[in-house]
Amino acid sequence: MRLEFGLARAEVARRVATRAQAEQMSAIAATLREARAFPELYLGPTMLSPADAVAFAERAAIADLAVRLSLAEATVRAQAHDAESLRGLTPRIWAAFREGEVPAVNASLVASLVVGLTEAAVVAFEEAVLAPAATLAPARFRAIAIASRERLVTEPPTERHRRAAAERRVIVEPDFDGMAWLHAYLPADAAQRAMARISQAALQLAAAADETRTLAQLKADVAADLLAGVLGSGNSVGVTVGVTVPVLTLLGGNEPGTLEGHGPIDADTARRLAGHAPSFHRILTHPISGTVLDIDRTCYRPPADLKRFVELRDVVCTFPGCGRSARGCDLDHTVSWADGGSTSASNLASLCRHHHRLKHESNWTVTRDDGETVWRSPTGAVRNADPPPF
Ligand SMILES: [Zn+2]
Repeated sequence: MRLEFGLARAEVARRVATRAQAEQMSAIAATLREARAFPELYLGPTMLSPADAVAFAERAAIADLAVRLSLAEATVRAQAHDAESLRGLTPRIWAAFREGEVPAVNASLVASLVVGLTEAAVVAFEEAVLAPAATLAPARFRAIAIASRERLVTEPPTERHRRAAAERRVIVEPDFDGMAWLHAYLPADAAQRAMARISQAALQLAAAADETRTLAQLKADVAADLLAGVLGSGNSVGVTVGVTVPVLTLLGGNEPGTLEGHGPIDADTARRLAGHAPSFHRILTHPISGTVLDIDRTCYRPPADLKRFVELRDVVCTFPGCGRSARGCDLDHTVSWADGGSTSASNLASLCRHHHRLKHESNWTVTRDDGETVWRSPTGAVRNADPPPF
């Protein structure tokens, strides 16, 4: 009796949750339709062309929804797309989804599979997947739906592959415990060739008597080394990733470091990367203030910490008389990178976009000595930069 009650609760909850999800997607889609129909609601008076106004109003509405729902803007856009697609092309699936009969994951798969089908094919596709969508678990439904689509698609496989191959890409997805996923969306033959090379190298390493790593671990290590250019003929020169290490961590402390593009990493890893790993430049930070103490000359792009330091020091654009806040400014290498200038606080200054361009596009020049900044105009006028306001 108690068991049945629990099962019934779970079934009802699934239905309610699916209905709520469909309602959310429907409301998102309706909001964006409204924004496109009445751009002035999001833009006010505008000089944009009608087409741009519609596009910007939609972007503004997507940002609005993302903030209100605590969702990524890409998620809002995808949900609107799925809702419009289901509503317009497969109304029976849409109705079943809104009733809570077709789970959201299956409905969303249908929305992505109808893309590229002719009108007649869409009708046949909906007919074929309507019953399975309500009864099958996602993995099984996915296999059946893809097979159904395959039979209905009229576009030749070579054309489809060319279009899909244009979408090839590599993405990195941060995970927890100091790990991350590296995904590559590739033509199948390229993926298989890459995997064959990885397996072959891993098997060779596994044959060593003192090798303790599993084959899976070896493959992961080989893949990472090949991509970073550590193994084989690859060339890692010029590839650098910033690792920020608090000074006390370098001396054995436990304060976590920061890996550029990822976030916090454990102290052991931070020490290892700062110590001797290739392809990394280290940034040492003060134990209390967190300000940058030292940074290798090997990176061009200033790390966030250094950028903040320079912004706080300069307060405003360092061009004489300019009052634009340093916060929105570019960081300019006073002595250019190409001329051997370092990415260090003493060689970086805040310049607003306008004055940054002026410095690069004209004969205005600047020199800095011991905090004294001197600008020289193309006709020889010399002016000391204003001191920071406080
Ligand atoms: Zn300026």
